[in-house]
Amino acid sequence: MLTAFACAQTPARSGEVESVYPAARSLYLDLHQNPELSSRETQTAAKLASRLRDLGYTVTENVGGTGVVAVLKNGTGPTVMLRTELDALPVEEKTALPYASRIRAKDDSGRDVGVMHACGHDVHMASLFGTAAIMAHSKDTWHGTLILIGQPAEETIVGAKRMIEDGLMTRFPKPDVALAMHVGNELPAGQVGVGPGYRFSNADSLRITIYGKGGHGSEPNTTVDPIVIGARTVVALQTIVSREVKPGDVAVITVGYFQAGTKNNVIPDHAELGITVRSYKPEVRARLLAAIDRITKAEATAAGAPREPKIEHYEATDAVYNDPALAQRMEGVLDSALGKENVIVEDPGLASEDFSFITAQGVPSFYFSLGGANPEKYAEAKSAGVTLPSNHSSLFAPDVDPTLHTGIAAEVAVLRNLLNGSADDLRKSISSGH
Ligand SMILES: [Zn+2]
Ligand SMILES: [Zn+2]
Repeated sequence: MLTAFACAQTPARSGEVESVYPAARSLYLDLHQNPELSSRETQTAAKLASRLRDLGYTVTENVGGTGVVAVLKNGTGPTVMLRTELDALPVEEKTALPYASRIRAKDDSGRDVGVMHACGHDVHMASLFGTAAIMAHSKDTWHGTLILIGQPAEETIVGAKRMIEDGLMTRFPKPDVALAMHVGNELPAGQVGVGPGYRFSNADSLRITIYGKGGHGSEPNTTVDPIVIGARTVVALQTIVSREVKPGDVAVITVGYFQAGTKNNVIPDHAELGITVRSYKPEVRARLLAAIDRITKAEATAAGAPREPKIEHYEATDAVYNDPALAQRMEGVLDSALGKENVIVEDPGLASEDFSFITAQGVPSFYFSLGGANPEKYAEAKSAGVTLPSNHSSLFAPDVDPTLHTGIAAEVAVLRNLLNGSADDLRKSISSGH
């Protein structure tokens, strides 16, 4: 058993990544030049599906929209899921790279927009494909069931949910562990970022309509001014984080827009606020949402509003949480695969991600980051005290060769480690969720 374990710990064998790299790189270039918007990733999904089928995976398409599920069974053992996203963003690429996207498309509102893989999901797909090839060609290094998924519509946070509603956990073997990787410029290419516990925050989107009574701007006494109520509400909301949340607990409430009125001498009937709420702990999240509700309604009452405000909670994602025991184990695996100096323990961020829907199905998860910055540019930016373009920027441009090499090597290492021993032992070694 010791030998088997030591063998399974072996990262990508010498030449393994090189042997799949040309195909992975050409898939990357193709995907980068042909990005598709969220929920419309038909060509992208088809490209991934056909390549995985050619490798011997059993592939199911159109799972929850354009979702792809590829299963490779290799004897008894744990079931491990690795996820990539499929979608690109309505961003016009300005990198001036020879392979920059020139694609334009109509967005949901019919507007003509540039389309770009500005979040690097093309890196994730190419990496997953390279990993898929290595795993298919080295069945002597692992046993169990490998499930690779291409998830649509991450940017609009509906894709994971739709795949689950379409049977991701019931039509296919339920994973013992789920994995995801995300590229970014926070680390140089060649490195990965890891950490236990919360990785990304809970995110809640609220739309609040405050009702007043409109009228002539010269006769405010005949009106209830929703702009004044809205202004007071915006200021009062600032006291939630500063006065109601325990110092040290992470919480953000941002009013991203405040829209009301049409003309300087008209007092409008209503005002609208758009709010994003971020948190980690469920109890903090509940407190924030309850306080927003209470304050918004009370300000309207205080002003004599004719109707209670309408509060719409139209979007929500849970925090991405790394199972602590699993995260510790994966850190060790990545240390030996990439070198300890290339595995960075990172602080959690306040972005959000719908990978949490998979974790919410009772699947312990590990989400790690992949450095994408050109190492020289990264060092220059660091010494100049500036930051490189972040994900979603029209200038986002991962350093393809070292990034993709590291992504594939990292994924192979973690999969080989997990797809070993028995499913029971794997489950026992993990401290169940949060
Ligand atoms: Zn993104
Ligand atoms: Zn992304």
